[in-house]
Amino acid sequence: MNIFSFGVEFSSEEDCIAHFKAQRDKIGVTCKCKKTDFFWIKSRLSYECKSCKKRITLKSGTILENSNLSFLIWYKTIFLMSATKKGFSAKEMQKQLGLKRYEPVWSMMHKLRKAMGRRDEKYTLEGMIEMDEGYFTVESAEIEQEKGIRGRGAPGKQNVAVMAESTPLEDIETGKTSKSCRYFKAKVLEDHRAEGINETVKKSIEESSIVFTDQSTSYVDIADLVEVHISEKSTKETTKETLKWVHIFISNAKRNLLGNYHKIKRKNLQLYLDEFVYKLNRRYFGEKLFDRLIIASITAV
Ligand SMILES: [Zn+2]
Repeated sequence: MNIFSFGVEFSSEEDCIAHFKAQRDKIGVTCKCKKTDFFWIKSRLSYECKSCKKRITLKSGTILENSNLSFLIWYKTIFLMSATKKGFSAKEMQKQLGLKRYEPVWSMMHKLRKAMGRRDEKYTLEGMIEMDEGYFTVESAEIEQEKGIRGRGAPGKQNVAVMAESTPLEDIETGKTSKSCRYFKAKVLEDHRAEGINETVKKSIEESSIVFTDQSTSYVDIADLVEVHISEKSTKETTKETLKWVHIFISNAKRNLLGNYHKIKRKNLQLYLDEFVYKLNRRYFGEKLFDRLIIASITAV
């Protein structure tokens, strides 16, 4: 969907409501009494349970719950966030939407990013996996406050564990090797220590996987958590070959985040990464990304 077809398909609040309701109906609504049959009360934009008469608004139970912004504003935002690889700052989005207040836009975008993160948390990586840490620039005032509590990274830097499914390929005729990548994950680490890495590996990677890292001491326990752990001394070759995709990810993600948001608070870094990873993992979805994001906004609460 491009901006013109979006404008045609979603020209009014009614269009968006009809579309949102159709998506919610497809997924199915469940009442607190566990029943799934409802009357639709159009004047109240609510479902009424046929059995216990409880009403559920169209927004409730979705990430739109508690938002006073219209469906049209949400749809425009979802469209703009999914249509561009680059991403938008809340300031830029506010300008595009023509809204007076900044805060509701900021909060809407963060809810969408959270939904993207939750969606990706449903999946674990498997097969051959590259893993390394990237150091992302965060606002330093916050670091000062947190000094001593979280401390180990360089000031103004936050370490992030980056993982990439990466399959070696060999051209049978030329013998040349390359690697193709599939899904990525990026998790903000509380500190460098092995515990943080271990937790992340347990949550993010299938036990049957083969994990490649450098020889950092944070990775000492990985061998116990997966099928095979292969660690290589960090050299130029390692960066270019063994950990190729995580390094490409780290530099692209840094460039993207810096380009969009000139200052990132440590507590928001995961949300920005979640958006970047969500879109990267769905890079072949094309126009379907918009629909997927609508579904995520209904289900990933
Ligand atoms: Zn009920």
